Amino acid sequence: THFGFQQVPITEKKKRVGEVFHGVADRYDLMNDLMSGGIHRLWKDHFVSSIRPAKGMQILDVAGGTGDIAFRMVDRMIAGSSSSSALSTSSSLPDIPILGCISRMFSPLPEPPRRAHSQQAQRWSATERQESPSASRVVVSDINSSMLDVGRSRAETRGYISKGQQNGIDIDFQVADAESLPFADESFDVYTIAFGIRNCTKPEQVLKEAHRVLKKGGRFACLEFSRVDTPGITQLYDLFSFQVIPAIGQVVANDRSSYQYLVESIRQFPPQEEFLQMIRDAGFRAAQFENLSFGVAAIHSGVKL
Ligand code: SAM
Repeated sequence: THFGFQQVPITEKKKRVGEVFHGVADRYDLMNDLMSGGIHRLWKDHFVSSIRPAKGMQILDVAGGTGDIAFRMVDRMIAGSSSSSALSTSSSLPDIPILGCISRMFSPLPEPPRRAHSQQAQRWSATERQESPSASRVVVSDINSSMLDVGRSRAETRGYISKGQQNGIDIDFQVADAESLPFADESFDVYTIAFGIRNCTKPEQVLKEAHRVLKKGGRFACLEFSRVDTPGITQLYDLFSFQVIPAIGQVVANDRSSYQYLVESIRQFPPQEEFLQMIRDAGFRAAQFENLSFGVAAIHSGVKL
């Protein structure tokens, strides 16, 4: 334990996670901004741009919550089909100079493995995309219906449903447990999970399901909190996690324990190298990771061959 926090027994975890996200659903986005100073937006932008979403793809976002990843996918799919220069800006990122400075803390993104990339390029040929206007699909799935309800109403108010329809992109919301997905084998080109896998009881089972539902040549990508291992930064990060985050939870959401759970779940999740090995063990090839903001978060990815 750190600073007196107790480990949550694994049998209680599912119940606890359900309560946490039902309880915070309508304040979830505000809390993310407050606790990360807006940086989670940059991580998500970087994550989604690294996937290079394109029209014609079948994308599954697991533990998709209120839709942050899925909406960025839709924006990128549309921007990619109209003008490549649009990729350098993000419609969802506010124009705040400090965020631009922080974004330079990120290293350039690795290219996806050549073989998978060329296979995918063939599959998403231009003719195929034009002949079949609704061939693109973004499925937002989450175990928690309250989170998906917020996501669905955000999709409507922000115009994503109609934007999707105009551009031949179906956006579906589906309640689903990451450990037992209700989708056929080999049905998606891309599988994403952002800040979701550490909330699951059996991450190995989540990875196995990700591998099953991906087509051959499909890509797995996971954005998750990870481990900071830089002298000086580690101490600051600990202070922030154990003192500041629960205090913000208390003041803004009147819910200290949910935010203590958040901090605790981050510390219990395997560090970068260990998680990388779990991804390899699930059958993924070309597995790699990239640290964001000194490892506060990391992107792990792999390809199903
Ligand atoms: N991906 C979104 C984002 O980045 O903003 C939401 C992340 S939120 C921190 C974690 C989500 O994981 C919650 O919406 C929660 O309901 C979901 N979750 C927890 N356990 C899950 C499971 N077993 N299967 C699917 N989703 C799960």
